[in-house]
Amino acid sequence: MRWLLLIWLILWGTGVEVRAQAMSRPKNLILMIADGCGPASITMARDYARAVLGRKELALDAIQVGAVRTGSVSSRVTDSAASATAYACGVKTYNGAIAVDTAGRPLATLLEAAKARGMATGLVVTSRITHATPAAFVAHVPRRAMESEIAVQMLDQRVDVLLGGGWAYFLPAAEGGRRADHRNLLREAEKAGYQVVRTAADFRNGVRRPVLGLFGPDHLPYEIDRNPQAVPSLAEMTRTAIALLKEDPEGFFLMVEGSRIDHAGHANDAAAHVLEVLAYDEAVAVALDFARRDGQTLVVSVADHEAGGLSLGRNVDGRGIYDWRPEVLARVQASHERLIPALRQSDRPDSLLRAWLGLDSLRAEEQALVRQATVKPDRWPVVLTELIGRRAVVGWTTNGHTAVDVNLYAFGPGAERLVGSFENDELGRLLAELMGFDLSSLTTTLRQQQPVGESR
Ligand SMILES: [Mg+2]
Ligand SMILES: [Zn+2]
Repeated sequence: MRWLLLIWLILWGTGVEVRAQAMSRPKNLILMIADGCGPASITMARDYARAVLGRKELALDAIQVGAVRTGSVSSRVTDSAASATAYACGVKTYNGAIAVDTAGRPLATLLEAAKARGMATGLVVTSRITHATPAAFVAHVPRRAMESEIAVQMLDQRVDVLLGGGWAYFLPAAEGGRRADHRNLLREAEKAGYQVVRTAADFRNGVRRPVLGLFGPDHLPYEIDRNPQAVPSLAEMTRTAIALLKEDPEGFFLMVEGSRIDHAGHANDAAAHVLEVLAYDEAVAVALDFARRDGQTLVVSVADHEAGGLSLGRNVDGRGIYDWRPEVLARVQASHERLIPALRQSDRPDSLLRAWLGLDSLRAEEQALVRQATVKPDRWPVVLTELIGRRAVVGWTTNGHTAVDVNLYAFGPGAERLVGSFENDELGRLLAELMGFDLSSLTTTLRQQQPVGESR
């Protein structure tokens, strides 16, 4: 009798666990990737939000759950392609690989698994949409530079919502694009049923599924340079994407990338960087707002790696300063990307600098820096970084990426499983498991369909 009771208790317990798991399986997954956003970038954005915008904290702060280690197979310092592949496919690979393993064989992605289940899918970015991070969810190529091929594979996937920049890789050279094969993929997309939009006005007039919205030939402008009339924000694109995707009864998978946080890190451009992180955080707020009301959506935010080796607090003239000053960044009017061409052409760079960087006057050591660049214009990037860095007490150690762990954030059903410190590939596999996706068997199917290295 007692044994029977024990067996019953075990069976009942298992049942509870199965029911609990079924209950916690999310219907929708919104995966947000802050490209090149290390922990210091988050602190920087929060301090800026407090000091300049009068806010208490970031939307992200409420949902922090852990950390991710980002190394790839080929290096302790990953690139975006290898790290995005780890998240999309649950497998570590070499730097430059787009959803292929170290032998160049295709790996099934979260987006492909969502499609296989009949879910709606979307990619929203601020870079060229053929850039490494979004590419790793929809294309399988051995090198991230193969953006013409990535564009073809992206459209073949019939993703429901594609929003970002980079129409150049969809147009032939004769029509102002970068394609060598004379194909006009925008026209082909339209023939395949896509609504193709290229202006913010058309986008705001109303879009339907499937939609291909590309708002510039290359990366979209940095937030600090963006004209809101001409280019939608990441938050706006995210809101529209969710509105289009949430109608699907099978649920949806959406990847949203704050792509250019990374670019501003590479450029050591502190003012551009902090506004990119804040624009990303606004997109996170949009996703969270939906998820809180919906109750069946898992929102995960992660970075693919750190960029720039950012430091808040640094040596100035050989002395470590115990402070950093967000107000200095708030006065800057433009990114280095926009400023440097103007400085190169100007014969009065110091007055330009005072206006654009919001500097009252140039101190002696700053004037010396400006003279360096006036003589040798290649020095402008370093000089701008130093002018702002000294005043803001912000330091950078590289124009590339670093190996530091990045923050992990999650909200919604399954979020409790993401508490802790994970390898990037482990996180990819965990997301697949939480969604009930079988990436291994999909990979097998994929390899039967698509022979190694053969482009379609
Ligand atoms: Mg990226
Ligand atoms: Zn990068």
